[in-house]
Amino acid sequence: MLITDVDVLSAEGKLQIGVNVAVKDGRFCCIGKQIPDGDWGERINGSGLIMIPGLVNAHTHVPMTLMRGYGDDMPLDKWLFERIFPVEDKLTGDHVYWGSMLGIAEMIACGITSFSDMYYYCSNISKAVLESGIKANIGRGISCFDNTKRFADLPAHSELVELIDKYHKSGDGRILIDAAPHSEYTTRPDILFDVAEFAKMHKLRVQVHLSETRKEHLECTGRHGKTPARVLRDSGIFDLPVTAAHCVWLTDLDIEMMCEYDVTVAHCPQSNLKLASGIAQVEKMRQAGMKIALGTDSAASNNNLDMFEEMRTAALLAKGVSLDPCALPACKVLYMATRAGALAQGRHDSGDIKQGYLADFVLLDKHRPEMVPCHDVLSNVVYSAGAASVKMTVVNGRTLYRDGNYLTIDIDRVVFETKRCVSLLI
Ligand SMILES: [Zn+2]
Repeated sequence: MLITDVDVLSAEGKLQIGVNVAVKDGRFCCIGKQIPDGDWGERINGSGLIMIPGLVNAHTHVPMTLMRGYGDDMPLDKWLFERIFPVEDKLTGDHVYWGSMLGIAEMIACGITSFSDMYYYCSNISKAVLESGIKANIGRGISCFDNTKRFADLPAHSELVELIDKYHKSGDGRILIDAAPHSEYTTRPDILFDVAEFAKMHKLRVQVHLSETRKEHLECTGRHGKTPARVLRDSGIFDLPVTAAHCVWLTDLDIEMMCEYDVTVAHCPQSNLKLASGIAQVEKMRQAGMKIALGTDSAASNNNLDMFEEMRTAALLAKGVSLDPCALPACKVLYMATRAGALAQGRHDSGDIKQGYLADFVLLDKHRPEMVPCHDVLSNVVYSAGAASVKMTVVNGRTLYRDGNYLTIDIDRVVFETKRCVSLLI
């Protein structure tokens, strides 16, 4: 594929105007002013388009699109116990597959090329990822409320073993399986210790929820005499590459310690606002040197999977709480939504537009009303663009979405089947 005369915005917000980008064998192989010689197959006129790196949704639960809008403006406990848990009790692999397909379709149309997920029936999620062409780090959520059981006794353990065997690095590496202890408050230190040992043995990365609510944070210090972050560290979890979602209630000492352990925070500002969990101190974390990626969390608590919205919210929120309009500038937010997410997933040759990197990118339409005029491409991408600005989404050099059409997903069937599943569940 050859895209000519296109404006390329890097993950760090650097702009190259009117360059030619050639993609071969799923990777960027030439980026420059010269049109490279050779037969590149499809040729796309890029004038009028902006190329950005594919967006990486660093924290979600994709099948929960099935519960989108089912219980809003409710207290967290009531929402969980009266709405979410009863539906989850009835879920089957079939429901999870169609809910995943719906969420993936939504993400592809929003320019997301990779996501990190934590849920169950993960083989059904993996199937949807393989068929749709997107990338994902998939974690089977691990929780335990039975004191007689160890990690090895749990269904999550056997499902994880099977997942590693069947799906780890499958689809040309598009799927990576992660270990995913749900959180401190849904596990125990010995379970966390066993998960850490398991992850070390299988060379897995870890996804976990951390200090999302004040209640969680206070109850943990009451229970263990230390913060949830310390519990994770003392159980060996932070010895692995970790993505910790939320991190709203971290202490200054937690931030310092997590920088030492190189933990990536998956900041989910819209979910935190909607569930009234609080506001993560992103500027403080960033200035301490912490790695920060961006996530939507699930469609049940957001209520969409739109990373353009998430970028905008992250930037506005950081400015609003610090009373500093210079806080979290557009270039930092774009990096969080792209390269930082790819690195958190262990995808070192992804998340930016560079020669040799995997060709995960999005083409935005410069002529859409929300993109005109264009005094600053970076500003338009972070503060003005939305899903409607996305013209094309490409993963590993393969076009998944173009001009409103899905090339790998039968969207009418997905919508039909999702409605069928929901009618059986709710
Ligand atoms: Zn979550």
